[in-house]
Amino acid sequence: MHVASVGVSKLCFLFSLVSCGLLLLLIPALQPSQRQGDLPQPRPAATDRDSADDGGKSGTAGPAAHRHAQKPGPASGLSGNLAGRGLSKETKVTEVGDRRPWRVAQSHGNPEEGSLPGDKGARVRGFRPRDSLATKDIFIAVKTTKKYHKSRLELLFQTWVSEAKEQTYIFTDGEDKELQTRAGANMVNTNCSAAHTRQALCCKMSVEYDKFIESQKKWFCHVDDDNYVILPSLHRLLSSYHHSQDVYLGRPSLDHPIEAAERVKSDGSVSVKFWFATGGAGFCISRGLALKMSPWASLGNFISTAEKIRLPDDCTIGYIIEALLEVTLTHTHLFHSHLENLQKLPTDTVLEQVTLSYGGFENKRNVVSVGGPFSLIEDPSRFKTIHCLLYPATDWCPRGDPRRKT
Ligand code: UDP
Ligand code: MN
Repeated sequence: MHVASVGVSKLCFLFSLVSCGLLLLLIPALQPSQRQGDLPQPRPAATDRDSADDGGKSGTAGPAAHRHAQKPGPASGLSGNLAGRGLSKETKVTEVGDRRPWRVAQSHGNPEEGSLPGDKGARVRGFRPRDSLATKDIFIAVKTTKKYHKSRLELLFQTWVSEAKEQTYIFTDGEDKELQTRAGANMVNTNCSAAHTRQALCCKMSVEYDKFIESQKKWFCHVDDDNYVILPSLHRLLSSYHHSQDVYLGRPSLDHPIEAAERVKSDGSVSVKFWFATGGAGFCISRGLALKMSPWASLGNFISTAEKIRLPDDCTIGYIIEALLEVTLTHTHLFHSHLENLQKLPTDTVLEQVTLSYGGFENKRNVVSVGGPFSLIEDPSRFKTIHCLLYPATDWCPRGDPRRKT
């Protein structure tokens, strides 16, 4: 009996050992189902306070740029209500187009968020995919006046407009048979006055806005007739955002926000501060944001809004977006007007910019410093040179080394 009970104990001991061993073997088999929960989860949808970098002067907007973005948390104290009052907005600056770190938040979502092309599930989970943008999705409005049809517009048609005929619209103030033949339905006679007055310029902007809304295109970009648009850079920049986000991109002409009497939301006894993108360097607005501007911009409302605050067209755009809609201007150094010293732009970065300009050929020449197939006499604005560097196969571009007159 005793011997038998010892045998049973041994058996029990052996059985326990075997069970433990089996259990140990089973643990790894159970692991995968546990790890499922540890797999990377989809990132949350971009919030209105996310910030992003377009990759700076390189003009690229890859994921690396995203990694540099700072995301000010709720503790940053930069709440959306700053803009409504338009007060204390000096610090509320966002920048793309240079290598400076982001200073603060911006109002549009992070362009890189949800950048998983073709991931339908991502859309369902609240991702904002990057825009798969075609060049024809960009509406480019060129503001001009009859006296500049020959001296300025011709050069644009000869250069960058020839690469973007379908989506470039010319807004002018006088009939011109030749221009009509060249631009077809894309020439718009605004019937606005040919004067360089606030009213006349706002009248043109108002027509530009309405035409864009009607076009169903994804982006509205405005330029002057002394701007060169580097289309690949523009495409790259806009592709890093989504047209349904609230995006207002451009270069401020001042280093501080403008201040104006608030006459839309109040009686003018209070002032409002806001940033605006200078029209002379060009600016772009996403369709999503443009639609929100409608109460103050569509069907002639733009003119009455501008009249109320008594500011020019580009300032009025900034006022509607920043002060009324509380959307922040994304400052970019990729847009250029002749108000800045264009000579200072590093030569090796010229082709990566989004817009260029020129000014004052005679005494104070202000043009970008770029060498190429044409001398300063042959190409005073440098637009032909830039064009041949970008599109060397163009029939009028000299064959051979395009940099030979550097
Ligand atoms: N412009 C206009 N009507 C005028 C004068 C100029 O529409 O009577 C346009 C011009 O074609 C250009 C923009 O306004 O697109 C700015 O004009 P300009 O370059 O002559 O002046 P800036 O303000 O740049 O010194
Ligand atoms: Mn100009």
